[in-house]
Amino acid sequence: MATQQEEETVVRVPQIVQELNQTMRSGITRTKEWRMQQLRAVLKLLEDNEERITTALAKDLGKSAHEGYLTEIVQATSSCKLAMKELNKWMAPQKVPTTLITFPGKAAIIAEPLGLALIIAPWNFPFSLVIDPLIGAISAGCAVVIKPSEITPTVSSLIADLIQKYLDKKAIHVVEGGVPVATALLEQKWDKIFYTGNPKVGRIVMAAAAKHLTPVTLELGGKCPVYIDDSVDLKVSAQRICHGKWGFNCGQTCIAPDYLLVQESIVPKLVETMKDTIVQFFGEDPSKSGDLSRIVNENHFQRLSKLLDDPRTSEKIVHGGQHVKELLFIAPTIILDIPLDTPVMSDEIFGPILPIIIIKGVDEAMDVILSFPKPLAFYVFSTKKEVQERLVIGISAGGMGVNETMMHFTIPRLPFGGVGESGMGAYHGKDSFDAFSHKKAILYKGMRGDIPARFPPYTSEKKSL
Ligand code: NAD
Repeated sequence: MATQQEEETVVRVPQIVQELNQTMRSGITRTKEWRMQQLRAVLKLLEDNEERITTALAKDLGKSAHEGYLTEIVQATSSCKLAMKELNKWMAPQKVPTTLITFPGKAAIIAEPLGLALIIAPWNFPFSLVIDPLIGAISAGCAVVIKPSEITPTVSSLIADLIQKYLDKKAIHVVEGGVPVATALLEQKWDKIFYTGNPKVGRIVMAAAAKHLTPVTLELGGKCPVYIDDSVDLKVSAQRICHGKWGFNCGQTCIAPDYLLVQESIVPKLVETMKDTIVQFFGEDPSKSGDLSRIVNENHFQRLSKLLDDPRTSEKIVHGGQHVKELLFIAPTIILDIPLDTPVMSDEIFGPILPIIIIKGVDEAMDVILSFPKPLAFYVFSTKKEVQERLVIGISAGGMGVNETMMHFTIPRLPFGGVGESGMGAYHGKDSFDAFSHKKAILYKGMRGDIPARFPPYTSEKKSL
């Protein structure tokens, strides 16, 4: 059911789209000056508002100021600086060699803005998952409508406030609200839709885009597996896995480890080392830790509690399991030796619960991974080169880490995106620019010098030329 405010917003949507289309037609956003000026403004927005942003993140998600700064502000700032540094290069026409039949001529690829873009963002990194694609859209010269997640309302209204204060109102507009507003936006004709969120809604977005043949980038999710064998340093591995699972956003991260596939012989030692690491990170009572985010809302808390309370899961808990509704707190939880047909293994967990599946070796691990849709990320912990290679080549995933979790995300020159059910298209760095650009192929010719063989009549002598 739409709120009154959402109903009012829905009515305004066609007008907003019409105004931004007019801006797009004026050509202002295509200029290098406009793009640079807006990128500078994004940077200033980030520099001026660190405290407001981290406070809003703490209110909506219980994120510590340190985590909020690191995962949302630093990420967006480095994307913005890279775009400012490389914009000239990205915008420059790329010359390509011509052919005999086009001689004398020149050929080039010109990146042109796709046009008016819609960015729909989720709640888990509610700030950077708006700003990062926005940087791509601005760099490419697009006008933009942004729809932040309604599940993180403090961040959503902060984004609306900051964007209208710092950026060009005629070209960049924030529309707040939930599903009714998103639905109304998706009914409009866009030149590009950039959606981040769950695969179920991804399908709705793609169906809406298909009506207008609008290109989409879908940044989705899924179950991200971790493979660990007996060749690794368990302490180092446990630290990197626990950091990826619980260190950011309490497991509510699209590329957080979802489940572990652990070689039989190291299971007891790995579990003990992970338990120690959890205590080292969050203390004996993690509910008192300021470094462990909370579950975003009661709906998600109930969803995760149901997984924990399932008898087939609860009897397998070897660490954690505590959950307190009033605090929206769920402890870092390890579940050992879980059958694949339990509910915790059916969907992306997106929370602090970590199942361990015991395997004999690489073949069995591959069988399990391949029984699920292609993941957004896959992590391999092994120092054996042949195992690394086999899994790098044998498993399709959006991205991979070898002896690491999550950190590939921080390298701006690596494309970030899914494959299969975990998404389509990619962004970050130049890929963000490309996501909002069309590569226009151009052949420039003068008035002289055509090769006669191209014109009819097509005689046999001409064929041999
Ligand atoms: P969410 O509930 O905030 O939804 C995302 C956006 O979709 C919101 O703006 C929401 O208003 C909109 N939406 C929801 N239902 C809709 C509908 N029926 N029609 C149109 N729009 C609708 O966030 P979420 O989907 O719960 O986010 C978590 C998911 O996102 C996880 O699956 C996670 O893996 C994925 N994710 C992916 C990435 C990535 O970069 N690939 C990043 C973060 C999260």
